[in-house]
Amino acid sequence: KTPEEDAAIQYLQARYDKIVPDEIKTFKDLPLSQKTLKGLKDNNFHTPTEIQRQAIGFALQGKDILGAAKTGSGKTLAFLIPILEHLFCKKWTRMDGVGALVISPTRELAYQIYETLRKVGGLHDFSAGLIIGGQNLKFERKRMDQINILIGTPGRLLQHMDENPLFDCSQLQILVLDEADRCLDMGFEATMNAIIENLPPERQTLLFSATQTKSVKDLARLSLSYPTYVAPHEQAD
Ligand code: ADP
Ligand code: MG
Repeated sequence: KTPEEDAAIQYLQARYDKIVPDEIKTFKDLPLSQKTLKGLKDNNFHTPTEIQRQAIGFALQGKDILGAAKTGSGKTLAFLIPILEHLFCKKWTRMDGVGALVISPTRELAYQIYETLRKVGGLHDFSAGLIIGGQNLKFERKRMDQINILIGTPGRLLQHMDENPLFDCSQLQILVLDEADRCLDMGFEATMNAIIENLPPERQTLLFSATQTKSVKDLARLSLSYPTYVAPHEQAD
């Protein structure tokens, strides 16, 4: 890193504590890296949605988040932006291994997250990997040690955790449990618990769920520490 980049990173980190959600009108009002801001702009993302406005600041500050927001509210960027910024500020490189893990209930949703990450995060130098069923397991296995941001479905992730010697989440910074209620409805409770128990406890965790059932609360208790609850009111239009 050049001294200019170092200065930029320190500047960003110092500003996280001063974020006031009500003052965030556009993504430019958030202290984000130029690479992320340009990635957003190039893909026509200008104004954060309500969940993004409320969650991104807390997530940048390193807090665990329990987010309640319905489908279509923009949860993907609410967790991808903090992931990109965290790894950027930690000067993460390809050699540093898996820095963020996103667990998604279905292949389709995992793929959508991966695509959004490639588009918005494409200017960063992180590698993204998709671990979902129905692909060549051997192929996934070999690439595993070069992935920085891993997106996957619960069953396939646990399979790698159990069987693949190259699967290493010991440096994990951020865990995202996306659509947690749906994961649980699909019968992944034991699988998710097994994954979470094998991850380093000092990580940050962001849990998103449309509903707050008892099993979601149990999962939250297991995975989050002192979470900030973020539940934007639906906007009347
Ligand atoms: P959720 O995960 O909450 O169901 P998504 O993250 O998939 O929602 O986003 C839903 C749709 O809204 C996507 O088509 C996405 O591109 C779009 N979207 C997300 N954030 C913004 C934004 N800030 N501005 C405009 N469109 C957005
Ligand atoms: Mg989603």
